[in-house]
Amino acid sequence: MNDRAVVALGKIYKNELQVSEEWELYAENMFPGSPHTIISPVFTININANQTTVSFTEIDVSPYDERSYKKYAYRKGASNGGDITVTTKFGAFDDAVNYRNKKVDTILNNVFTKSISIGELIKSPEKEILILIKNEWMQNVSEINKKLYDTYESLDKEAKKKCGLSIIVQKGPDSLFVADFEIFRTALVKDATQGLSEFGGVVSEGFNNICSICLTQKEHLHGFASPFKYYTVDKKGYISNYFSLKLAWKNYPICDECAEGALLGARMIEEELNFYFYGKPYMAIPRLLIDDEDRYLEVFDAFRQFRNSERNAQSAYEDELMTFVRNKKTILISI
Ligand SMILES: [Zn+2]
Repeated sequence: MNDRAVVALGKIYKNELQVSEEWELYAENMFPGSPHTIISPVFTININANQTTVSFTEIDVSPYDERSYKKYAYRKGASNGGDITVTTKFGAFDDAVNYRNKKVDTILNNVFTKSISIGELIKSPEKEILILIKNEWMQNVSEINKKLYDTYESLDKEAKKKCGLSIIVQKGPDSLFVADFEIFRTALVKDATQGLSEFGGVVSEGFNNICSICLTQKEHLHGFASPFKYYTVDKKGYISNYFSLKLAWKNYPICDECAEGALLGARMIEEELNFYFYGKPYMAIPRLLIDDEDRYLEVFDAFRQFRNSERNAQSAYEDELMTFVRNKKTILISI
């Protein structure tokens, strides 16, 4: 099974991310590799007497790179529902007359609404601030969008291709980014982990049993933590144990630690181990015959170097990958 290899990659990724809080594991880099640009309307919080108001002040343009990406707390969402926080990939405008922009519409209509509900759920006072920002943006949508448009248009061709959109909140001397809000941090963790034990409203979890990946007895096991869709329960006939979704964990029990490794490993594969073979995309999952963390790191580094080498050679010759790995060190691998 490749699951063990995916989890091993996840462990490497976790070390690389150097996280201190759980949400950091699930904040994604929009454009891994090259540095790029992010533009953000800045909203200032004004507190006068007992009343708090929010006003739009300016557009911020900042570099977005390997170090700064976490504070913007990006996480890709479903294609029709918007991303998980207000940070998103940004592109051309639909028209240069009314300055309509689908991404902004999705943020205002979907993402803020979802985030405000999370605020309600966790009883966060930040909810009120998000409501004020949403209203301010909606009431001044033409002015703010025009400024976003002008800023985007002023970028050079390369920056336009890889551009992000976020918000910054100015509170006294402090500039608050998306990750400074507990609502958005909660949204990241919730999105990443909610499907591990719950599917279609049914919770499937086991206790004090053997994990199918690390093969050790663990206190808590998830029923739906498969990292890729090669194991699904979305059709009745796929569910064993007399079609009982609740007992799905018995088929494929995954402990908390391996579930986290699988999530991160899958993300690493999607971000850094995807290649093309004669125009067809494929993902490579390096699997060692002998489990050894240091060796995993070596093999993964070889793949990463190959990925950053000439792209044309990759699309034409799969064999080059094998040659490349072989020249790095003699290691037995299967793909
Ligand atoms: Zn495990």
